[in-house]
Amino acid sequence: MPVMALDISIDRDACMGSGNCSFWAPGVFDLDDDGIAVVVEPAAQPDDKVILAAQGCPTQAITIIRDGEKIV
Ligand code: SF4
Repeated sequence: MPVMALDISIDRDACMGSGNCSFWAPGVFDLDDDGIAVVVEPAAQPDDKVILAAQGCPTQAITIIRDGEKIV
């Protein structure tokens, strides 16, 4: 069975641009020109790193769905 990439979404209204996510999972998250987080490449880091980065968001702006189940 192929490994499914994480389905990552960012609530841009909730993001306060702390940069935590792009620090802990570089290549997956980045800040755009407005200083708001965007998803660049979900597979750029191991899933556990991406999940930890999402859990570390101070405003809980990141949602992750894996196999149809919300895990963050
Ligand atoms: S950790 Fe959360 S608040 Fe900080 S940049 Fe990422 S999405 Fe935005």
